[in-house]
Amino acid sequence: MFEIIAEDKKTRARTGLLKTAHGKLETPFFMPVATKGAVKYVSADDLKKIGAFCIISNSFVLYLKPGLDVISHSGGLHKFMKWNRGIFTDSGGFQCCRESFFVKSTAEGLHLKSPFDGRAHLLTPEKSMEIQQTIGSDIAMCLDDMPSFSRDKKYVAEKTKTTHEWAERCLAAHTDKKQLLFGIAQGGVYADLRKKSMKFISSHEFDGIALGGLAIGEPLSNMHDMITATIEIAPRDKPRYLMGVGSPEDIFKCITLGVDCFDSTFPTQNARHNTLFTHKGKIKIFKGRYKHDLKPIDEECDCPVCAKYTRSYIHHLKRMEEPLGMMLATVHNLAFITNFMKDIRTSLKEGRFYKFQKEFLESFKKRD
Ligand SMILES: [Zn+2]
Repeated sequence: MFEIIAEDKKTRARTGLLKTAHGKLETPFFMPVATKGAVKYVSADDLKKIGAFCIISNSFVLYLKPGLDVISHSGGLHKFMKWNRGIFTDSGGFQCCRESFFVKSTAEGLHLKSPFDGRAHLLTPEKSMEIQQTIGSDIAMCLDDMPSFSRDKKYVAEKTKTTHEWAERCLAAHTDKKQLLFGIAQGGVYADLRKKSMKFISSHEFDGIALGGLAIGEPLSNMHDMITATIEIAPRDKPRYLMGVGSPEDIFKCITLGVDCFDSTFPTQNARHNTLFTHKGKIKIFKGRYKHDLKPIDEECDCPVCAKYTRSYIHHLKRMEEPLGMMLATVHNLAFITNFMKDIRTSLKEGRFYKFQKEFLESFKKRD
């Protein structure tokens, strides 16, 4: 299922291949976020053009709208959205930290409310497996009971215990052998709880392990300590997924700690808010200095946007709030991160990861 191709000698960074029903995913990789079955402002065709090979959707949101009947009627999410590459689905456990969804959690499952009509839903581990299997994602996630990072140890220990019980219920309810299932390790910001959780999850037959409840507002150093404590004892032969990390600096750091898969709205949100990534740092396209700038967003980028359009034009579109400006900016930022991940994989295969990281970050920290 997961094959390691090359490992860095100095750190825990590695590159490998994860086999799924929709092709082999080369790790480490970054997934654009398609919560409702679409990456904001980008078509599936454009995602393919920039070389993205896996996205992540939210199964609970899709269950609410358009509903499983609509998705099954099309033959699953891949066919519904015309995307024949990898899809991860999140279980809905993340909704625990959203006030618009969360009501309470009990031993049975998560009690949620629909942000669309306010109706109550009980999301059990069994229900979550049924939803994700109907959607037909390539990789399903267990339902977890995620504590917020600021809670005391006793509370986090209880939530971690519930997460473990639900992980076993998910395994028992998961019957689609073409779909991979990832377990989620919790434990808040407590290293001993994190280790205990990783031991528990890795003792079960999951295809990969997610590090849950991180990148949710805790200090960065806490997050790095927790990743280190968890990955120290993680099985080498299973992919590790960290949710919610997406800046090049953070991705580099987490890859050196041993993380293989990432997702985040960071590149798409930045694009919508006029911050574009280039090999010479981030640029604020809104600034007056780009009004007459005939260069592409990034001279080192080979994306379809940089091949054709100028900073001057994108500056104008953004100032006029033309939707095309959002589209072009988003396609470029996602292409930038996709190419960045590809360059990391190449540097790992060629044994020059450290040098690549140093040179990239040196140049990327520049400001316009
Ligand atoms: Zn570009």
